[in-house]
Amino acid sequence: MRKRSDTCCLVLNESRFWRKVLGDIATGCWLWTGARRADGYGCLMIDGRRVRAHRLSWQMQVGPIPDGLDVLHRCDNPPCVRPDHLFLGTQGDNLRDMRNKGRQRNVGRKGPISPQQRAKRLAARLARLEQENREQREADLRFADWCRHNTAISVRVV
Ligand SMILES: [Zn+2]
Repeated sequence: MRKRSDTCCLVLNESRFWRKVLGDIATGCWLWTGARRADGYGCLMIDGRRVRAHRLSWQMQVGPIPDGLDVLHRCDNPPCVRPDHLFLGTQGDNLRDMRNKGRQRNVGRKGPISPQQRAKRLAARLARLEQENREQREADLRFADWCRHNTAISVRVV
């Protein structure tokens, strides 16, 4: 459950938040353009506390972050604050996720891949991108709608 004081704090800070967010057409990420920490995560000061932008985005749009869990990036892009690029997990999940996505693909790979394998992977990647583009557009429309109802900014989806 979100405490009443937290809710007030979030509402007050929402418009301040969105002014610093820029959509990136190439990746679909919503990038934090304000201050960044050394590790790349966006941050802002709220009531004298330093808050990570992607965590605040999650709290504003999805809900509270349970104790012991962290807000992690599906898109591997630390400044991104797009809620559907984020998920709740532990640091252990983050490492597993990295492995699944092949961020550590050079670890333990056996030999070179054949041209056929390469073509197959490329086709799979293109299909995935097409699907992601469709989902991204739907998310953009939802976001534009959300902004119309909740903020003073208007977002146009092209
Ligand atoms: Zn992203």
